[in-house]
Amino acid sequence: MSELFIATKNKGKVAEFETFFAEMKIEVKSLLDLNEEIDVVEDGLTFEENAMKKAEEIGKKIGFPVLADDSGLEVDALDGAPGIYSARYAGEGKNDEENMNKLLEELSGVEKDQRTARFVCVLAIYIPGKPTKTIRGTCEGIIAKEQKGEYGFGYDPVFYLPEHGKMMAELEKTEKNTISHRANALIKLKEQWANWF
Ligand code: IMP
Repeated sequence: MSELFIATKNKGKVAEFETFFAEMKIEVKSLLDLNEEIDVVEDGLTFEENAMKKAEEIGKKIGFPVLADDSGLEVDALDGAPGIYSARYAGEGKNDEENMNKLLEELSGVEKDQRTARFVCVLAIYIPGKPTKTIRGTCEGIIAKEQKGEYGFGYDPVFYLPEHGKMMAELEKTEKNTISHRANALIKLKEQWANWF
């Protein structure tokens, strides 16, 4: 394989995947390079279902290898919520701040040792004529009681990393990119790639 299509319009993600696949001599393209709009409804019940649906629907349409991802935050005390609904936890059209406030509210009264959580990233790879593969990367942490830190996005300001003694939002991008759920999924992908393809 010399070219791979990434199912995202997020320039940050495209850049991250470009750097990763350059080492493997694979050229990356994305939804930003397409002239047509392809909308996939994310109605799966797991990260795996959503990532596979995106990779397969887009891949079958363009006839090209596609990598799609789905990610979010799982909180143990909330039975895995917000999970696949992380982007719209406080409701459709709500922002990161509103989602975080809802999370802190739901966890009010829950003590530190019960506030364990993880970021999850599932990558799905569709190659025409082959079964779609998925791979899961995680990053373990604890939901803090208050926000701290300026970097990152989403739930980073309330995600405490015990091994680093810092919030995810206190890590600069380069550092986050070595320990994040997405980074861990990519590390696993690299280990599996030669066996798979
Ligand atoms: P997506 O799969 O990249 O669209 O992410 C879905 C949602 O999960 C985002 O809107 C965030 O709320 C949350 N999320 C995913 N990755 C991260 C992360 O690295 N930091 C903080 N929040 C994240």
